[in-house]
Amino acid sequence: MGKIYFDHSATTPLDPRVVEAMLPLYGANFGNPSSIHSDGQEAREAVDLGRQQVADLLHASPDEIIFTASGTEADNMALIGVATQYKPQDCHIITSVFEHPAILETCKYLERLGYAVTLLPINSDGIVEPESLRRALRPNTRLVSVMAANNVVGTLQPIEELAKITKAHGALFHTDAVQAVGKIPLHMDTIPVDMLSISAHKLHGPKGIGALYLRQGLTIEPLIHGGGQERGIRSATENVAGIAGFGKAAELARLEMAAETARLIRFRDRILAGVAEQVPNAYLIGHRSKRLPGHICLGVAGHESDAILLMLLLNEDGISISTGSACSSHHAGQPSYILLAMGMDEVQARGSLRITLGRFTTESEVDAYVEALPRAISNLSPVASHEFAVVA
Ligand code: PLP
Repeated sequence: MGKIYFDHSATTPLDPRVVEAMLPLYGANFGNPSSIHSDGQEAREAVDLGRQQVADLLHASPDEIIFTASGTEADNMALIGVATQYKPQDCHIITSVFEHPAILETCKYLERLGYAVTLLPINSDGIVEPESLRRALRPNTRLVSVMAANNVVGTLQPIEELAKITKAHGALFHTDAVQAVGKIPLHMDTIPVDMLSISAHKLHGPKGIGALYLRQGLTIEPLIHGGGQERGIRSATENVAGIAGFGKAAELARLEMAAETARLIRFRDRILAGVAEQVPNAYLIGHRSKRLPGHICLGVAGHESDAILLMLLLNEDGISISTGSACSSHHAGQPSYILLAMGMDEVQARGSLRITLGRFTTESEVDAYVEALPRAISNLSPVASHEFAVVA
């Protein structure tokens, strides 16, 4: 068996149909969408189509889509773009303790500017409880941002309820839906979300292109100033090929989501059943069913501090998984702030294996993983794990 890629939460392989949609934009169709001549207008058509396709996935209108260079930029744009419309003392922001750094670091930046930020706790299932939001609201709360699905544990958050509580208070609701869009239905015509961040490379689209959904009628301060593209909210010549690829990826996700969800849940359950049988000391981290279809986060009791070693042993077997988020590779060996927030102790919080499946995952790959994991665990020598713990 060739290499097995089970790290789709870090990024996904490009769908060949996406590549096909992008190629003309790297060739004959190279114009600048702002040019009035026909080369420019052909590029404009590609941008318009991409915008429509992304809007369709979200049941939104095309003029509610602002293209950005990443999910990180969309998160920054939402938070800073709302906050800077207020004086710091007039603006309290609420988010959760287990957001992606794109949110948490932006909040730290806003705190340095004098804004007040409250972090909501999560329960031991990896879920934000709506009651904690009710308690945290203040008269000057302007913005609440809670992610739709967590990138490490894969748990789904009750964003519809959180958004309703926020709207009843008169504040804006943003969700970082980078891990969720294309995997679960997120329909802006039924959920009262004001802003939502997306990133194309998590749904078999290209890297370097994302979007912020900004509900009609809302305005935010731009982060980037210039020629007035993207309704003046995000100036810069458009990443036309990226937008075309993003659009195609969004269209494919929309058309294939129902069948793909059923397939991935079947694979997820097959892995969980296989692991329960072969590795009885393994445990699932996060809620059993309120999770992304293809997302598993495992701990192995007694081997928590061996997580990175296990990941490397599986890598030798040609299987790519992760020990947390890709970003956490910068902090290898440190306990995950997400698992700590779920109430795990420092040892347990070092030990998660993240297995995330995608569109090209096959049943034989799933079976190969279930065979490889116990083999890798049996290869862990107590000495090696002790040495690793010291190095970490
Ligand atoms: N938000 C979440 C929940 C993520 O998982 C990620 C990427 O892993 C991001 C934001 C950042 O997205 P991008 O890689 O497009 O900057």
